[in-house]
Amino acid sequence: MIPSPLPGAPQLAYRGDALHLEDVSLSDLATVHGTPLYVYSKASMLAALGAYQRGFARRDVQICYAMKANSTLGVLQVFARAGCGFDIVSAGELRRVLAAGGDASKVIFSGVGKTRAEMREALAAGIGCFNVESEAEIDVLDEVARAVGGTAPVSIRVNPNVDPKTHPYISTGLKDNKFGIAHERAVAVYRHAASLPGLKVVGIDCHIGSQITDETPYLDAMDRVLDLVAAIEAAGIPLHHIDFGGGLGIDYRGDKPPSADALWKRLLAKLDARGYGGRKLLVEPGRSLVGNAGVCLTEVLYDKPGEHKNFCIVDAAMNDLPRPAMYEAYHAIVPLVLPAADAPIVTVDVVGPVCESGDWLGRDRQLAVRPGDRLAVLSAGAYCMSMASNYNSRGRGAEVLVDGAASHLIRARESAEDQMRGEKLPG
Ligand SMILES: *Cc1c(COP(=O)(O)O)cnc(C)c1O
Repeated sequence: MIPSPLPGAPQLAYRGDALHLEDVSLSDLATVHGTPLYVYSKASMLAALGAYQRGFARRDVQICYAMKANSTLGVLQVFARAGCGFDIVSAGELRRVLAAGGDASKVIFSGVGKTRAEMREALAAGIGCFNVESEAEIDVLDEVARAVGGTAPVSIRVNPNVDPKTHPYISTGLKDNKFGIAHERAVAVYRHAASLPGLKVVGIDCHIGSQITDETPYLDAMDRVLDLVAAIEAAGIPLHHIDFGGGLGIDYRGDKPPSADALWKRLLAKLDARGYGGRKLLVEPGRSLVGNAGVCLTEVLYDKPGEHKNFCIVDAAMNDLPRPAMYEAYHAIVPLVLPAADAPIVTVDVVGPVCESGDWLGRDRQLAVRPGDRLAVLSAGAYCMSMASNYNSRGRGAEVLVDGAASHLIRARESAEDQMRGEKLPG
C-alpha cells in the first residue's frame, strides 16, 4: 500500500506509474547507476534551507549545516553556495568543508572528544568557533592555542536539562547525557574560560537532541539558555552570539514537526520579549535540511515466504541504511513503478543480505513485489550514507544529485579495491 501523500517528500511523486524525484525517473537512474543508489533532490534541500531563511529574515543569523547528517561533497557544495556555514565534529569533516568550497570562518566545531591535532588543524584553518563541551577540553584548547601563538574563539555548550521527547540515543540535552556542561556549572566555567589567555569567549550554545517534533522542549531550552546568558553577562563576560543547535525533526511516517519558520517565529518572539532579539544567532540544523531530500533505491532479490513471516530480501542492507537497526527507526518503502491494480499485496519484512537478524529496513509492509522490482526507501537523505559502513565487505552505494531534469553522479559506487586500499598482508 502506498502512503498518500508520500511522507515529507515534496519533490517526490508518481508521474503515470513511475516514481520521479524532481523531473527525473528513479527507475531510469537505477538502471543507469545500479542499486543500492542514494538520490538527492537539490530543490528539496534548498526548500528546507529556505524555511530557515524565511524564519530569520532581517535577523543577524548564521545557518551552520550540521554536516554529519550527510557529508558528501556534492551535498556540501549546495549548502556552501547557498551561504551556509557548517557545524563539524571532526577534522575529517573540516577537510570536506574546504574541499567543497566552504568558508572556514563560518565553521563551528562541536563534539565531546576533539583531539589536540584536530584543534591545531581547525585553528590553522581559521574556523569561526569551537563549541567546547567539557571543563577539561577548555584547558587543553587554551594550551593548544597558546602553543601556536593564537587565540581560539570559544562558545561553551551548556546542557539545559530539558527532555526533547525523542529516542534516547538521540537525546543530548539531559543532565545524564555525555554532552555539554551542566547548567549549574556554567557561570563558573565561563569565568575560568574568560581568564585563559589562549581563549576568546564569543558565545554560548546548546543542542538538545535530534528528530524533535514538538516545540515545547525548544521553548524551554531557550528560556534556560537566556537565563544563563543573563547570569554570564552579569559576571562581566559579554556573549557575542547565541547558538541554538539543531535537532528539528522531519516527517518519516506522518510525523508533524513544526516547520522551521513557524518554530523560529515562536523562538524569536521569546528572544525579543526577553530583550535578546538583536543578538547574533547561530543554528545547526542537520536532518531537517537533508532528510526528506533523499531516497535510497534498492532491488528486490528474493521472495522468501514463511510460516509466520514473509521476507522480501533486497540488495540494500543495514550497512547502507543503519537507522532501523540502530534505533528501530521507520522509513517508508514504496515501489519505483506502481504495481498492476490486481497484483497481490503481501505483508513482508523488507530485509537486507547482511548476516544479522537486526538487518531489516521495514517490518510488516504491504507490498506487491517480485524479484527484479525496485523500491525506494524514503527520507534517506540524513544519517544514512553518512553512517554507512563496509560491514560484510559491502561497498557503499553510489550517490546522485538531481537538479530539475538533470542528474549528477556525485559519488561512484565503492569497489572491492577501494575497500582494500591501505590494507597489507603481513607475510
Ligand atoms: C547532530 C548535531 C546537530 C544536528 O542535529 P539534527 O538533529 O540533525 O538537526 C547539531 N548540533 C550538534 C552539536 C550535533 O551534534
